[in-house]
Amino acid sequence: MDDKDIIRSHESDEDQVYSLSLRPVEIKDFVGQKDVIANIDVSIKAAKQRSEPIEHILFSGPPGLGKTSLANIVAHEMGSRLTITSGPSIDRAGDLIGILTNLEFGDVLFIDEIHRLSKAVEEFLYPAMENFKIDFIVDKGPYAKTINFNLKPFTLIGATTRSGLLASPLRDRFGIFHHLEFYQQKDLSEIILRSAQKLNVSVDKEAAEEIARRSRGTPRIANRLLRRVRDFAQVKTDNGQIDNEIVLKSMLTLGIDDRGLDEIARKFLKVINLHYKGGPVGIETLAATLNEEVDTLEDVVEPYLLKIGFLKRTPRGRELTHLGKKHIVDQANPRESIQQEFL
Ligand code: ADP
Repeated sequence: MDDKDIIRSHESDEDQVYSLSLRPVEIKDFVGQKDVIANIDVSIKAAKQRSEPIEHILFSGPPGLGKTSLANIVAHEMGSRLTITSGPSIDRAGDLIGILTNLEFGDVLFIDEIHRLSKAVEEFLYPAMENFKIDFIVDKGPYAKTINFNLKPFTLIGATTRSGLLASPLRDRFGIFHHLEFYQQKDLSEIILRSAQKLNVSVDKEAAEEIARRSRGTPRIANRLLRRVRDFAQVKTDNGQIDNEIVLKSMLTLGIDDRGLDEIARKFLKVINLHYKGGPVGIETLAATLNEEVDTLEDVVEPYLLKIGFLKRTPRGRELTHLGKKHIVDQANPRESIQQEFL
């Protein structure tokens, strides 16, 4: 697998299939992120009143928080067609020409992981974003000619897990910028209850809250855990209903602890604690010790650990906090024996 695909690989094939069925379609279906939604709602209504495409939008935030879903919603609410692509999949500027010239007035082009576009492609995008024009060079050497091409006004929606990596000329060309935060537990509970309804499975309120507590503030993880617990309920109970007891047992077996941390997150904390005396330690060193990609650690593992105050980023590297240290000490529990009893 190409290392550019690493981040997307955290959305498994199963996630992608369920993403389609569980993804909110209309703005009213999107739970949480109240400020972002209120602003987008105004932008959509204003653009519609003026019969103009909505301005280019940049969404930033950790994976699984709803950036792709919002792009879908914007296109749906604007009554526009949506074209989806991603930074790593556009190798050459030429790949973009076909996409851009096929866009109709008001269409939405979604570029996921936009921070991974190559420099050449990025520069090609500037005039397209700014004046809906592209310049491309045909032929080489003395016969080289620049051809200008007018595009139909469209909306570019970019998504990035790290807006800091975006070159400022690119960032400046977005008129609307929204950062998505990790979700509150009550919003995740609501997402779980709605998804349960779509999946036709019964979940009681307490069980939904327990799954939400372990979802690391992330709707994609909430939906994934719900599907796992549904499997357990189906196989291990008579009625297939999800209650708190089945959630707790499933989590134990899945190795998801009471803060929602999985094996890799705990290993990350443990390595800093045991091998590097609590840090500070550089991310490259940690990645090598854990045999993981730096990008995976930075995009997938660290943001939530930073958010819940288990980890600190210092100029000299990553450092475990008192809370982080306490968590791994508390977690040293006899999981295997309980797991065996359950199975
Ligand atoms: P991202 O593009 O940020 O990685 P996605 O938009 O693909 O995240 O979201 C992953 C899944 O999480 C979606 O398929 C959808 O089922 C669910 N989801 C995300 N945000 C919400 C939300 N606010 N309300 C309901 N479901 C959501």
